[in-house]
Amino acid sequence: MCIAGGRQSVRKIELFERELAETPIQMLSGEYGHNRFFMKRDDSIPFCFGGNKVRKAAAFYRDIRKTDTDVIMTYGSNSSNHCRIIANMAAAMGLACHVISPEENRERLYNTGLVERFGAVIETCPVTEVAETIERRKAAYRAEGRSPYFIVGGGHGYHGTDSYVKAYREIERQEQRAGLHFDYIFHASGTGATQAGLVCGQLLAGDEQRKIVGISIARDAARGRNVVKDSIREYLAADFDRLYREDRLLFEDGYRLGGYGRYTEEVERMIERVMAREGIPMDTTYVGKAFYGMTAYLQSRGIKDKNILFIHTGGAPLYFDRLAKE
Ligand SMILES: *Cc1c(COP(=O)(O)O)cnc(C)c1O
Repeated sequence: MCIAGGRQSVRKIELFERELAETPIQMLSGEYGHNRFFMKRDDSIPFCFGGNKVRKAAAFYRDIRKTDTDVIMTYGSNSSNHCRIIANMAAAMGLACHVISPEENRERLYNTGLVERFGAVIETCPVTEVAETIERRKAAYRAEGRSPYFIVGGGHGYHGTDSYVKAYREIERQEQRAGLHFDYIFHASGTGATQAGLVCGQLLAGDEQRKIVGISIARDAARGRNVVKDSIREYLAADFDRLYREDRLLFEDGYRLGGYGRYTEEVERMIERVMAREGIPMDTTYVGKAFYGMTAYLQSRGIKDKNILFIHTGGAPLYFDRLAKE
């Protein structure tokens, strides 16, 4: 097993060796509707500008450490927070990193620059050829006697889901300590692993007293729900039929605002307001868009006097992309 320069030389990341520390939950100062608003700061996880992709990466890290991996492969766009964190993780472990990325949009954003800086190989291909490019590259590495570990784009998969089951339990512990109960949990839903993990956490806890609402940033409800549901099925396995309930899966597609990466002036205004009032940066693709979507969702349904938790899922470099363009 132990080839020179292989398994033995893999470096540890101390932060990922055990469970990540709890991220803070803070009450917001400003008024965002007739409810009490709290924010869980997953953007403050202390690795590579934080975010939900760090929770997921830490779960994959522990799996990779059990293998003889010498190259980590993944997939993502030029703006991908996931690719930034995986490339940083690979560099920290002393492993090679190979990122497959669609060639359609090559604008060099902060996340693109960081991935390059961590020494990852970025291979571009037409978005329609991604699946075969990944398979071809994996086979090529194996033919060279290398041992690739592939992480699905966005950190999707069992480990990604598991990391947010743990985050759900973390929220429950924080509620108990604070003597508080969140009636709603909102977050940006993309590939759906974050939502799948939170919903599994809720189903396993048997907690009927709250709603978890994923604000879709791209997918329509039909596709989005199916992907989240598949991840829930994969995670709960034999317990799926007993535990799953259709009404626990709230995937809201009314605030996609034209699709992935699109946003409106209302989103921009909300971002400015939260930055000025709370000192918390949000981006237009995920967090700012979902925060805006949450306020519109609550208002349109006349929801009042509830405790609302919003999970800030990260994306700090995207905040600066927008700032740099002004
Ligand atoms: C990836 C990402 C999301 C979406 O998370 P999923 O688990 O893919 O649904 C939300 N916010 C930020 C900042 C992200 O990078």
